[in-house]
Amino acid sequence: MKKATAPQPPALEGPPAARLAALREELAAAAARGGHPPPTIVAVAKTIPAEAIRPFLAAGHRVFGENRVQEAEAKWPALKAEWPDVELHLVGRLQSNKAAAAVALFDAIHALDRSSLVAALATAVRKAGRQPRLFAQVNIGDEPQKGGVAIAGLPDLLAEARAAGLQVEGLMCVPPADREPAPYLALLAELARRHGLPLLSMGMTGDRDIAAALGATHVRIGTALFGPR
Ligand SMILES: *Cc1c(COP(=O)(O)O)cnc(C)c1O
Repeated sequence: MKKATAPQPPALEGPPAARLAALREELAAAAARGGHPPPTIVAVAKTIPAEAIRPFLAAGHRVFGENRVQEAEAKWPALKAEWPDVELHLVGRLQSNKAAAAVALFDAIHALDRSSLVAALATAVRKAGRQPRLFAQVNIGDEPQKGGVAIAGLPDLLAEARAAGLQVEGLMCVPPADREPAPYLALLAELARRHGLPLLSMGMTGDRDIAAALGATHVRIGTALFGPR
């Protein structure tokens, strides 16, 4: 099935508070259609400067995402000083040599996808005495250029994480860009169920309503909130 057949969610307009309210309402309705509670909105602020993030903080939003550790380190310490209850999520690929920095700054990491990173994170968590909430990223469309553990490798990765003392609470995916997303999102939900993982990080601007209807607990929304990058 091609993506052209998938209904696109409406564009959001107006100031940050209005966008957030419209998005919350839209996602709650979509989630309710699938019999699920409304998902947490992770506002993905990659490439967005602090001045453009501030209005969303002022409007009361507290859960944000970044895809690069270095960019987050440059932007967020100052914003966190002003809004200490911010919850920061890493949604992009994590290099093992940045594991300690990521554990120090982020409250959740959505990109656990390989053995070497399990080892690096376990060391960083032990040293820091704090563990961010962890999602294992699954390469749900089996795309060679994408991050994420292969579906067949997921059981071993989860076992390795457990053995290393890491508590993985959910799964995350980015479905193939040129395909109808629903089957991939449904498969991720099924994998989470099978492994007893309560959290599901799925749904971006284009597939947010479908993801919410399929039980996403965390949707990662950039463009719909901040505009095109
Ligand atoms: C950029 C990004 C998002 C947000 O994408 P939009 O389509 O702008 O909403 C979500 N997840 C990941 C992993 C991203 O890199």
